[in-house]
Amino acid sequence: MKAWRVTGQRKAELIDMGSQSVEAGCVKLKMLAASLTPTECDVYNSAAPNALVLGRNGVGLVTETGGDVTGIKRGDTVYVRPVSYCGECAHCRSGKKGECEHSYTYGKTEDGVLRDFITVPQSDAILLPGKISAEEGVFIETVALAVATLDKLKLEKGEHIVIVGATDAGLALAQVALYYQAVPIVVDMRGDRLELAEKLGIYYTINIVDTDPVKKIFSITCGKMAETAAYCLLSGMPLQRSFDCLARFGRAAIVGMEHLGRDMTINLLPIFEKNVTLAPVSGADDNYLSAVNMLASRAVNVQPLITKKIPFESVGASLAEMGDDTDKYAGVVVEIDKL
Ligand SMILES: [Zn+2]
Repeated sequence: MKAWRVTGQRKAELIDMGSQSVEAGCVKLKMLAASLTPTECDVYNSAAPNALVLGRNGVGLVTETGGDVTGIKRGDTVYVRPVSYCGECAHCRSGKKGECEHSYTYGKTEDGVLRDFITVPQSDAILLPGKISAEEGVFIETVALAVATLDKLKLEKGEHIVIVGATDAGLALAQVALYYQAVPIVVDMRGDRLELAEKLGIYYTINIVDTDPVKKIFSITCGKMAETAAYCLLSGMPLQRSFDCLARFGRAAIVGMEHLGRDMTINLLPIFEKNVTLAPVSGADDNYLSAVNMLASRAVNVQPLITKKIPFESVGASLAEMGDDTDKYAGVVVEIDKL
């Protein structure tokens, strides 16, 4: 089995991992696609990484099932859930899986999915309907993060949500907000990302380079300002602006799975004065199945988020070229099925 392993700072090697036996309760997958995300950027560029196989998000074809596996069979396509919980600790039992003491993340705390074959516990394999292609499937966590965000914001039908940062997460959020019959307003300073938002059916986009977002949102909301706002990490947007767009008693979320040590200084005064509720959303919680449903029903379209497809063999060269520029990692899909 071949895998891309980080062996030192900015050093990735294609290694042979030997063969893995398929234990009871596990399934063996031939990987079809994986993505490069800020997690891969972080692990690859970290000063002292433990030798770790990259790959947080991936889709594979079941080639073998161990004993006691039910509901999944050879030939099924599955998404490997990137973050798993023990289900047994006090947090898990009280429904707060996000706080699980024994959770693990592929490609971050455990060897990841950027390889030709992998064996995973059945509980980490999420069955994909045929309508979702492997390259679309690698975005499931992004869509699930969007669902987790709107749940946390308790976004209601007809409410406005200002999405600061047209990142992949931001564009997934905007589409899920439409599905919730809310009104997304996407704010960014990159014209190409805002064009993408428009292509995805987002009616209100604001480019802060030439438009004052506060004035514009005042006019869109007939002077009420927005009930909710979501700030997307790694968007390069000024965090403070998210709060300027909110109404009194507004709800805001800071969203993203990685921050890569970026500065997150904020002035709390406007939050205090407007009585804003502020929530961090750093994981997809258990929203993977909702995300699968949204992709299968085409409520969310992730195809336009794919910026580049690279062959499995060239992952090392691509990482070297992308370095620590997180923007370059957005929407990169690794095609493993062509091996
Ligand atoms: Zn737990």
